[in-house]
Amino acid sequence: MKIILDFDYTLFNAQDFKQALRDRFSLFGISSEQFDDSYFTIKQQLGYYNYNKHLKMLAQNNKINENDLILSFQEIVDSAREFLYPDSLFFLKTIKNIPDAFIYLLTFGQDKLQQSKIEASGIKKYFDKIIDTTNSKMDLLKIDRNVSDIVIINDRGKEIDEIKQQLPPVKAIWLRRPYSLYFNEGCRQKDFEASTLSEALSFIKTFINNKD
Ligand SMILES: [Mg+2]
Repeated sequence: MKIILDFDYTLFNAQDFKQALRDRFSLFGISSEQFDDSYFTIKQQLGYYNYNKHLKMLAQNNKINENDLILSFQEIVDSAREFLYPDSLFFLKTIKNIPDAFIYLLTFGQDKLQQSKIEASGIKKYFDKIIDTTNSKMDLLKIDRNVSDIVIINDRGKEIDEIKQQLPPVKAIWLRRPYSLYFNEGCRQKDFEASTLSEALSFIKTFINNKD
């Protein structure tokens, strides 16, 4: 069996992490609004987020030493482990011990911040493979032609619907954490809805038992 996990809002509280960055940058006189606006500008310009460009823009617009921003930014990134959800580590340890299970993490390759967050959160060791996608999470097609024993866990209902459209045999768990950013996005093609990773785990166990 292959278990494919998403990172932001599945294992990692990206909302709280971003808020920590906003709070830190407010010490330099950068407002939350300015932080968000420039964040989206960069993302729109490039199609993905690049923190070097973001920090450069903020430094220039506020006449701040760029290196000071980089150091502060790095400090928050280094504390990424604090932003894992309380059930993430237990879940990862448990699925790692499922016999014959391969655990994958899906991430966007061009986004260096994403890479740094994953690295600093200390969870890399729980994965057999990190899959860097460039355009779409559909890249999981590259894993294997046999998709009947794939379970995906994702907070984005939309992404699940896209994947199920292409690969109906994939089992999809829509992780709907309370207060999470995409809580109300909707998901038509989920096989199971969970509000915690413990609930997701019970679905995985049922799935394994039914296969035997
Ligand atoms: Mg996500």
